[in-house]
Amino acid sequence: MPAQAPYIGRFAPSPTGPLHLGSLATALGSFLDAKVHGGKWLLRIEDIDEGRCDAASVEHILHTLKRHGLNWHGDLWVQSQRHSVYETALKCLSERGLTYPCACTRKEIEEANSRRALGENRVYPGTCRHGMPAGRKARAIRFRCSAEHVKWQDHRLGDFNDDLNRSSGDFVLKRGDGYWAYHLVVVVDDLASKVTHIVRGEDLADTTARQIAVWKALQSGLDAKAVFQPPAYWHLPVILAEDGQKLSKQTGAQAVPEHDPVLNLNTVWQHFGLDKIKATTTKQWLELASPVWANYRA
Ligand code: GLU
Repeated sequence: MPAQAPYIGRFAPSPTGPLHLGSLATALGSFLDAKVHGGKWLLRIEDIDEGRCDAASVEHILHTLKRHGLNWHGDLWVQSQRHSVYETALKCLSERGLTYPCACTRKEIEEANSRRALGENRVYPGTCRHGMPAGRKARAIRFRCSAEHVKWQDHRLGDFNDDLNRSSGDFVLKRGDGYWAYHLVVVVDDLASKVTHIVRGEDLADTTARQIAVWKALQSGLDAKAVFQPPAYWHLPVILAEDGQKLSKQTGAQAVPEHDPVLNLNTVWQHFGLDKIKATTTKQWLELASPVWANYRA
């Protein structure tokens, strides 16, 4: 998918715990990618699920990025300050008939999927697509997926041709508990900040088709010249813990060690299969890493 110049990338952590090495790897990859393109690198705090996020984690993320020389461009984007923007986006989709209220509980959706094998995608069965059953109350707001497949390309993983009706079904934009869903806010913000390149962990690759569908829906009806094409995607390998699990806050991943930022950069660098860089400062390290990253990308 062609991306438009100038390059704008971003790192979008959820502050549900301190920054760990897996997230540092993603931050570094997206930072270097913007750097080798002479682009901008934005930082967005995805704290929309306020029950799971906390200020101490935000502080730790900012402090850790700065300590590793990963300085972002301009002001911080903070999702918890953007409710009205998400409200407007949802309204715009609803006015086009692209959303609907849904009364289904998690249990009902699980039951509808009960004949699917373990590991198969859980798909929304479409119960409320043409109206909620009589007497039921709306809980969530869902996106009405089109029958058209979403075709997209990943720089590392290749071509995708996703049929959302089979992989997820109509997905949630606003949750039953009133929180915004990730698939709406991530797209609204990437679009608002004119992101052209998304470099993030491979674990998010299967969310991409849903996000492209929302991206296009938000711009449907716009004059062709005003349409901003979806970003170019590059899903990086994720760092696995010793037991083969993805490093994450859920699996109790440790915060990035405090003492030696150059050592930390080399640790995540080697995880990409790249050779250790000798440097005394993070600034020098990042300078030396840039041409290597340009090669790695190619
Ligand atoms: N906030 C998401 C996370 O921390 C990343 C979102 C994205 O990069 O699209 O996993």
